[in-house]
Amino acid sequence: MKPTVDQACPIYVGGKWKQVEGRTGGPVFNPSRGSVIATVPMCGPEEVNEVVAAAKAAFPDWRDTPPNERAQVLFRVKILLEDAFEDLCLGISTEHGKTLSEARGDLRRGIEVVEFACGIPTLLMGESLENIARGIDCHTDRHPLGVVAGICPFNFPALVPMWMWPIAIACGNTFILKPSEKVPLTMQRVVALLEKAGLPPGVLNIVHGGRECVDALLEHPDVAAISFVGSTPVAREIHRKGTLHGKRVQAAGGAKNFIVLMPDADVDRTVEAVQDGAFGCAGERCMAGSTAVAVGEAGERLLPALAERVGAMKVGPTDVRESQPDMGAVISAEHKARVSGLIDAGERAGAKVLTDGRKTRVADAPDGYFLGPTVIDQVAPDNPLMATEVFGPVLAVLRAKTLDEAIAEANKQAFGNGAAIFTNSGKAAREFRRNVSAGMVGINVGVPAPLAYFPFSGWNDSFFGDLHIQGKEGVEFFTKRKTTTTRWFSFGDGEIWAK
Ligand code: NAD
Repeated sequence: MKPTVDQACPIYVGGKWKQVEGRTGGPVFNPSRGSVIATVPMCGPEEVNEVVAAAKAAFPDWRDTPPNERAQVLFRVKILLEDAFEDLCLGISTEHGKTLSEARGDLRRGIEVVEFACGIPTLLMGESLENIARGIDCHTDRHPLGVVAGICPFNFPALVPMWMWPIAIACGNTFILKPSEKVPLTMQRVVALLEKAGLPPGVLNIVHGGRECVDALLEHPDVAAISFVGSTPVAREIHRKGTLHGKRVQAAGGAKNFIVLMPDADVDRTVEAVQDGAFGCAGERCMAGSTAVAVGEAGERLLPALAERVGAMKVGPTDVRESQPDMGAVISAEHKARVSGLIDAGERAGAKVLTDGRKTRVADAPDGYFLGPTVIDQVAPDNPLMATEVFGPVLAVLRAKTLDEAIAEANKQAFGNGAAIFTNSGKAAREFRRNVSAGMVGINVGVPAPLAYFPFSGWNDSFFGDLHIQGKEGVEFFTKRKTTTTRWFSFGDGEIWAK
């Protein structure tokens, strides 16, 4: 599939693709080139009412479709996704800027959620207890919520929407997807595959836009639940507004993930993992290892090798299959300027730049939003770099004398998504795992992002809500339980049958 050029993205409503008239079209960029490849309509209440009505109309039949039949659609789309895999990945690289191998990871993890959701007949099973009192039985079963909506960030055009819709629809809900306005094309292609797989009209709908569109979803009385992934200020607000309107909400927010480097860590493997954690997807990952704390001699042991590896990374365009760099562009010109400005501020505050991505130029793609990988050492806890999520190719390195000091530094953060330690000491690893205030922990694993079967269990300001995305918590989120207590009286001692 060639990257889509100059298309106006339609909404998808009741099984039909529909161009929206009269709404401003936001630009969708190819970050490798700085060119506009599509436009996305900034929808409002009118279009939201339309998709909600379609989803509501489709709900009764879809709810009554047996779970094993619903799963068949997912089995079929899994095959179609595999067939289209490489084309979809090039599309991801083109609209997002990440490398093809990172795009493969993005889609592969998403397909794993489809595979997980194929097990829905088992996942939906309830519980029962016979004879809770003489002659009385009790059982619980799970019911879909109705119309549910998913609002997504730009950084995983495939995976994040696929955290949501496979589980939501497998549970019998009908779904409204609001992809990131920066990367709407990937899900457009995936939903075309769902259509081919036989998903009935209205079970999954797409609407586009930003705040106005999201507000209309949050306020709509027929939307039962909102699954949100994005930055912390927006996640907090979505949770507040959504719950205020009586909806079930799970809202995953931003992050600033700490990687603690102990003096006994394996040098080569740690350096490789830290490099990948900080600079994979150009640092635009909610599980990016953006902040390293070198304990004791760890800095002297690890940093020279790290700086050398990072300095050798090739940065460039990712939209050409044959020549892939080690790292692609960031999402936009504004984001590039913001990240660059944060490095300036960090340096002004006294930190030492070891490798400087601000100077990177890419000759064959001069208009792309490229920043090279930056390692910045001796970052003090009060450095401006520490006050915010950078979300770019920057590794800030702090120094600490002890593990306790490193954990205390990590725990000062308002966020609590991921945290990792590199060590050969079981005791240090255990202490870290128990005491670090983050919901996803890596022991000699730089990006401890859980797979589809486990919850994506962020803590603190990285998550607002009760039930996390993915895994059994995802099934719990998209269903409500009904508990039935049953007693049967004897009916005329069988006389009725005797007649
Ligand atoms: P964002 O918060 O700017 O946007 C996310 C979504 O919210 C988009 O669909 C956008 O249209 C919508 N939106 C933006 N502003 C809004 C507002 N004021 N009101 C209502 N809706 C609004 O996030 P982004 O820049 O697209 O994505 C990057 C962020 O997402 C980072 O902070 C990253 O850490 C986070 N993220 C978190 C996780 C996680 O699991 N915790 C996973 C991926 C990304």
